Amino acid sequence: MKTRALAVAALVAVPLAAPAATIPSPSEFLGVKVGADRTVADYRQILAYFKALDAASPRVEVEVLGKTTLGEDLFLAAISSEANLANRRRLQEIARRIADPRGLTEADAEALVREGKVFLFITGNIHSTEIGASQMAMEWAHALATAADAETKRRLDEVVLLLLPSINPDGQIMETEWYRKNLGTKYEGGRMPWLYHHYVGHDNNRDWFMLTQKETQTVSRAVYHEWLPQVWLDEHQMGATGPRIFMPPYTEPVDPDIHPLVWRDVNLIGAKMAFRLEQAGKSGVIYGAIFDAYWPGGTKNTAWWKNISGLLTEVASVRFATPVRIEPSELSGGGKGLVEYGPQTNFPNPWPGGTWRLRDIMDYERIVSDAILETCAERRSDFLKNALARARAAIATYGPADAFRIPAGQRDAAGAARLAALLAEHGVELRAATNGDVYVPLAQPYGRFVNELLTPQRYPETKLVPGKDIVRPYDVSAWTLPLMMGVTAERATLPSALAPWKAASPSLPLQGAAFALAPGSPETARLVNAGMRAGVVRVARAAVSAGGREWPAGTVFLDGAAAKAAAAKAEPGQSWTAIGSAPSATEPLRVPRIGLYKPWTASMDEGWTRFVLEQYGFEPKTLENKAVRAGNLNADFDAIVLPDVTKEVIATGKPKRDEGAMRYFPELPPEYTGGLEKEGAAALKEFVEKGGTLVALSSSTEYLIDELTLPVRNGLGRASDFAIAGSLLRAEVTPGHPVTYGLPTEVAVFQDEALAFDTVLPGPEMERRVLATYPAASQDVLLSGWMRGPEAIARKAAAVALTYGKGRVVLLGFRVQHRAQTPGTFPFLFNALYWSTAR
Ligand SMILES: [Zn+2]
Repeated sequence: MKTRALAVAALVAVPLAAPAATIPSPSEFLGVKVGADRTVADYRQILAYFKALDAASPRVEVEVLGKTTLGEDLFLAAISSEANLANRRRLQEIARRIADPRGLTEADAEALVREGKVFLFITGNIHSTEIGASQMAMEWAHALATAADAETKRRLDEVVLLLLPSINPDGQIMETEWYRKNLGTKYEGGRMPWLYHHYVGHDNNRDWFMLTQKETQTVSRAVYHEWLPQVWLDEHQMGATGPRIFMPPYTEPVDPDIHPLVWRDVNLIGAKMAFRLEQAGKSGVIYGAIFDAYWPGGTKNTAWWKNISGLLTEVASVRFATPVRIEPSELSGGGKGLVEYGPQTNFPNPWPGGTWRLRDIMDYERIVSDAILETCAERRSDFLKNALARARAAIATYGPADAFRIPAGQRDAAGAARLAALLAEHGVELRAATNGDVYVPLAQPYGRFVNELLTPQRYPETKLVPGKDIVRPYDVSAWTLPLMMGVTAERATLPSALAPWKAASPSLPLQGAAFALAPGSPETARLVNAGMRAGVVRVARAAVSAGGREWPAGTVFLDGAAAKAAAAKAEPGQSWTAIGSAPSATEPLRVPRIGLYKPWTASMDEGWTRFVLEQYGFEPKTLENKAVRAGNLNADFDAIVLPDVTKEVIATGKPKRDEGAMRYFPELPPEYTGGLEKEGAAALKEFVEKGGTLVALSSSTEYLIDELTLPVRNGLGRASDFAIAGSLLRAEVTPGHPVTYGLPTEVAVFQDEALAFDTVLPGPEMERRVLATYPAASQDVLLSGWMRGPEAIARKAAAVALTYGKGRVVLLGFRVQHRAQTPGTFPFLFNALYWSTAR
């Protein structure tokens, strides 16, 4: 986008071929000293500066990719030679052919490599407190736009740089506002009491295979549908007391399905980064530590399976833009790759300690950014050839008839349609059979990516030293979409007669007096919630017959008005049946009034829960500590959800002090401190006694178990041989309970902590039902991922429902909506909310 109308009038008058000297630096343009202590440009200023660069320089083109969650313009700056930018369409076409070389002759391929340019994608500041990259980007872009030296011009001839100074603009703005507001107070540079992404906070870098957030979707579209870069660098910041910068090579483990030429490109670039840093006298440079090459959830990680050379840099942080002083005695290692802080082969020149500032972060980031541009220019034809080789190898991994089939006729047809749509959004090619089955051919450039996401994970138990413990997963260890989504996708042979895939239409006839909607898909919640707000929705508490067939417990019946509103929310693959009238043996269903607890220690699970509920048409109200403590909760709520938050944070607002880690927990301003305290606990107890429903997710179950003295305990609390890292476990579901309506007899639950319940027989005043149980045979428990000591969890309860006074308590001891990635278990949560309004 060429923008000329801008704040600074003088700029608008600058002709396109302006001499370099007339292009203002970011500090000149913004009137603030960019990179100085306690000084930050916010995202709107950054965008204004890039628009000014775009207007003034033929080497910079700003393109708004889309809107963020809170409505900001998410932009990319394409920076290259004037000739390359003018030739953009052709260069994009070349990148596309290199990424998908099917049908190219050897001569075609060679010609494309000769003509093509390296597309280098650089993203920064996804984590909004890691502010350095967003500031550095302005200075770097200015330098590239104004350079007159032959070397820079050569780099811009060989490479098209696609620079995103921040891929979380909303959070960049929130954090800069919070920082400015607290400057000069004792809270300067401290944490915010809320998430820096409206829904997901720091987990915005965990969304890259599920694509649930607008920013992820927008950037993924730019990467996998528009630009098809060969190299992607994502710039982050890490803790303040270790090395000054990490860059690849990564540490163990590495996923064996990623093409080794990814690592060869990445390592070559990483070596050049370290080389240039050392030459510039920068100490504290480390590689081969902490950050692995195994998990596909992060920004550039997903790209590894899509044949892109993805790099991460992590620079030591300051307190946002406030310098920190690190005493030499405070410097520490402690992670994989650097056990003790001191010189070793991957860390030859430790930083000695001292003052560390925003300017240092920006200087380190600038050097590595220049180094990657330099290497991409130097290795232009190698990197294009390698990208081509990776795509060809991916295609050749499988036979031409190897495929996955996503059957149309399955328990959750809407979920199946959603899986197909997600793969298409990833740039995966799909085919459709006339019966609606979707086929995913594996002999395509993203074939390995498809296989990674559709099959179970088995974590490689790598050891760095013989006899010692394995390297533990960095994040989660399972991402098997069919298990998480509760849908079937199976290996199959590709039939010959297939059509191109397109999203299926829902089948929701509107002629009739009533409509029966069978339970079984989380997607039905959208229809039920819309229907209840417009008309009458009834639910069958036991199997009923209607329209000449049997319907299971949990089936809902919509009247005409409800159906009309519901149909407007329909998703592909959804269907219902028109019948004469709803059976009389049904109960009206009412919109549950939901309170969602939000602690001041920002909880990503609170954000994810809010996101999922809103997506499915629930309208949760945020419940802060003060509102809970005030009591009288039944007046406003049928159900209160406690997201996955530790009992200490719920009770007091502060995490348990981790003695070993010596973690300091910075104070928040007084209006954001405290927890539920005694009054809040009493208010929740009163709420449930008077008929409310409390739903606790994962860790927060322990809070309710303690406060309400429930006949349940965490049976893994002291099992020292048990360990797990975000894995999918098999659980057997108790049928017929209002919380398990529509669920299959067996589900994959996502578990990431040592939590599984033992229950005991309560007194006559209380009923308890185990809703889901881990299998008795320990070898049957793990479906995907990594777990140690499955014997400890076998036969224990995963979820429990209890009556309590006139109300109910639902304990869901697993991550029921983990990062919005587990629709297969959403019904536990949704059903619990509907149950809250039942008689
Ligand atoms: Zn980060």
